[in-house]
Amino acid sequence: MVKIFYISREHTNTAELLFKEALKTEHRINIDYSNILYLSPTPAKVKEASEIFHQLVDSRCYIPPEMATIVQYCKKLYSAYGNRRILNSSLIPIIISILCGRGIGFSSMIADFIRDIKCIYPDSSVDIIEQTFTDILHELNIPEAVTKTINEGIRSYRDYQLFITKNGLVDEIDIMNYVSNLQLSTKNSLLILDGFYEPSNIEKNVLKRLIQYSEKIFVGIPYSKQFGKLIDGYVGFLKDNFETEEIFYTDSPGSSSPNSLIYSAYQGMEDEVEEIARNIKSLYLSGKLRDLRKAIITFPVMSKYSSIIGRVFHRYGIPYDIYRGNILGRMRPFLDFLSLLVSVAEGYPRLKFSQFLSSIYFTRIPDNIRKWAATLSIESGIISGKEMWLNFVKDGSENFDISLVKEKDAIERDMMWIFEKLQPLEDSRKGVDINTYVHLIRNIIDDFGFLSSVLDSNVRDLRNLNIELLKQISFLSTLYPQPITLNEFIDIFSHLLNSIHIETEGTGVRIMDLSEIHGLSAEYIFLGGLTDKDMPLRMGPDYLLPDNVKRRLGFLHLDKYIEMQTFCFYNVIRSSKNLHLSYPLMEGEDMFLPSSFLYSGEEVKGKIPGIFSKEEYLIKQGYKSFSENISEIKTQSSAAIFKPSEFIKVTDIDSYRMCPRRFFIERVLKLKPMDVKEYELEANTIGTIIHRIMEKIIKEPFDSFDDFQKRAEAAIETSMRDMRIDAYWKTIINDTFMEILPEIYEKELEIREDGYVSTEVEKTIVGEPIKGMRLKGKIDRLDKIGDTVQIIDYKTGTLNLNCKQVLEGNENLQLFLYAAIAKNQGYRVSRVGIYSLKDISIKWCPSKRKARGSRLEIQSSGKKESELDDYIIAALRFLEEAVENMRKGNFEARPLNDYICWSCHEYAFCPYMQK
Ligand code: SF4
Repeated sequence: MVKIFYISREHTNTAELLFKEALKTEHRINIDYSNILYLSPTPAKVKEASEIFHQLVDSRCYIPPEMATIVQYCKKLYSAYGNRRILNSSLIPIIISILCGRGIGFSSMIADFIRDIKCIYPDSSVDIIEQTFTDILHELNIPEAVTKTINEGIRSYRDYQLFITKNGLVDEIDIMNYVSNLQLSTKNSLLILDGFYEPSNIEKNVLKRLIQYSEKIFVGIPYSKQFGKLIDGYVGFLKDNFETEEIFYTDSPGSSSPNSLIYSAYQGMEDEVEEIARNIKSLYLSGKLRDLRKAIITFPVMSKYSSIIGRVFHRYGIPYDIYRGNILGRMRPFLDFLSLLVSVAEGYPRLKFSQFLSSIYFTRIPDNIRKWAATLSIESGIISGKEMWLNFVKDGSENFDISLVKEKDAIERDMMWIFEKLQPLEDSRKGVDINTYVHLIRNIIDDFGFLSSVLDSNVRDLRNLNIELLKQISFLSTLYPQPITLNEFIDIFSHLLNSIHIETEGTGVRIMDLSEIHGLSAEYIFLGGLTDKDMPLRMGPDYLLPDNVKRRLGFLHLDKYIEMQTFCFYNVIRSSKNLHLSYPLMEGEDMFLPSSFLYSGEEVKGKIPGIFSKEEYLIKQGYKSFSENISEIKTQSSAAIFKPSEFIKVTDIDSYRMCPRRFFIERVLKLKPMDVKEYELEANTIGTIIHRIMEKIIKEPFDSFDDFQKRAEAAIETSMRDMRIDAYWKTIINDTFMEILPEIYEKELEIREDGYVSTEVEKTIVGEPIKGMRLKGKIDRLDKIGDTVQIIDYKTGTLNLNCKQVLEGNENLQLFLYAAIAKNQGYRVSRVGIYSLKDISIKWCPSKRKARGSRLEIQSSGKKESELDDYIIAALRFLEEAVENMRKGNFEARPLNDYICWSCHEYAFCPYMQK
């Protein structure tokens, strides 16, 4: 007789009720309950049931019932009666991938497909299944392209089944099939089936066999009239095969209205989790929640929340257990380990390789390397390549003088050692058998001390897991001895890492995915993440079976998927009187509405109880508004560099005038945030090279373009000869310069047409244009015509010189101060100009026409001042003002214009911006 207990969620916990019933009938003198078998669909429910049973028995010492999920129990029976090796289900996609030559992603999909077929058609051979599919696909008129992929899936199923049979293996579903036909030697005194509501066909077969081998059978079924259809199949199966008795445990059978839905919205996921943490802490402190395991936190998509939960709950000091949340492949040690393998496979790309070099989980990486890895990575501009790394640690680059790093020699030596240790794996990356990779990786683990800290038990556990994982991969080698590439090996390794969870021993709040919570009971349930996007969750795209085919074959289809989520949702909200529902309004840039399940509910503002984390407490203790921490920069007026006896660079005057604060930070303190160097030439390197080339080609007169060109070719070669830049960049510069050479030639002809005959380049100039203000600088180019000169400054960017703005103080003073010093030295300066090597054009002050007039006037009268003098006078006025302020120690945040602030690193800390 099978006793069916229909139990509504608001009535009681099914396990508790079933155990109470069991204890009424199963009086044990010797307190041995081992002849009771309790089966439930999820490990979380099994765990909860064992805790409930312990609370119900009145003895402290007893032999507990056997408690397991169906798969766990079948595995146990198979290990006692079966004779084949059990194939770990995480290896199935890998085997399929090897057999069908497709990637792990596609093979995982095929593995799920095979699993579904085996669960739904446990008694059918592959031939029968193939025929069934053919008939249905034909009947539904499925296009040939889709049919082709489905047939590929069935072919893979056949190959897979043949392969595991040939190799003496069985998978989990085969085991269940085996158990459903097993002749057992003993009977269970009581079989409890708790929490099943829609078992698959293979599960029904197992349950049928176990019921036949049990004297008494209690079946607990979650009951709800609203979702009655969901349990029809299960109840029908029991009634068709066994004599049954039905008992209803509902307050009013058939009617169970949900609690009224009250939910809260939070600004983001972090706020939402923080509120949950505060609530739990408040409940605990008030004494309402003494046992933290009586609180469950659940989300429709747990993976989105697991890292936030870890962070926030750690902050609040709340113990917790995340079910299936600790995936090995997402844990930092294994991410670092994968970065090592990917580095070797892909030629040491900068980011991946430096992740490995700076990892704390490789204890034998030399300290110097770990200390410098991030800086070297940021400063190198390397894309990838062993040679590039070695060259960089040996010679540095144009912008990073590695000789200043005092550990340079040790870094160079250690880097060689690291590459030496990785060489065997590098040599094998094109293809060796799986076992060779495992062997090489074991050597690497030893050489670099991966997870070798013996003191930390968690680290020890992870290391053992890694060893176990490598054993599993080794086992694959016995099935598939052919060579594979290192990239293929990495796919296998990361697939396995991502399929292993670490379960923690339960001591705190239970946290799990919504799909795991079914059948569990808690005093307090926090159901978060209820956005319109995630609840109900859309079914991911199925690239194998169209929805109508799934429906016809009895697979999980769209409607069923939604129905199950709805069932799950209402089950949860009915299972606890203390329910906290919530959703985040935003996630990154995405904005959300509440789930459609909440439409009938009422949104209330979340109340945050007066519970704070230690971190918050400390922050509040030392709280000062941000702007209070920012002040203007004032220094002693005696700052040595600005004394009248010292020379000030002309470019520093401009820099100060652009913004005194920025000047002080960047030029005086020489502070700049680190930029990640890209694989490109720095602007100042290009500038230096172009200056050098121009210097060499224009210094002497030239006869023709051919002459000019030959000179340019030689100049390019000598200008870059001693520079530490890649041959690639040298070629680019050479080609680019030669391409613009005809335009430069034309521009030079134009300058010479104006009568300028000789040129001085990179001319150092010093002077005291105003008494007590000594300046120094370097003029890029000084062209002469008789005793008159023009001053030119090269720029690699676009032109930007507005003569009128000079008078108003809104332009750089550099050229005009050079002109002032030159005049003091007896030169007649007719004009100054900026030569853009990007546009190959020159902007003059005064303009070309006015300057020619000025030059003639200077030459003819010898006394008429040129228009340039107006600019020089204005520049000197601004110079005087700037130097006086510098000497007073005034480095206020005062930009020449607001555009300057856009590119300023000080932006966030600047009083000017905070105003
Ligand atoms: S943000 Fe603007 S005002 Fe402030 S330091 Fe930078 S440039 Fe000067």
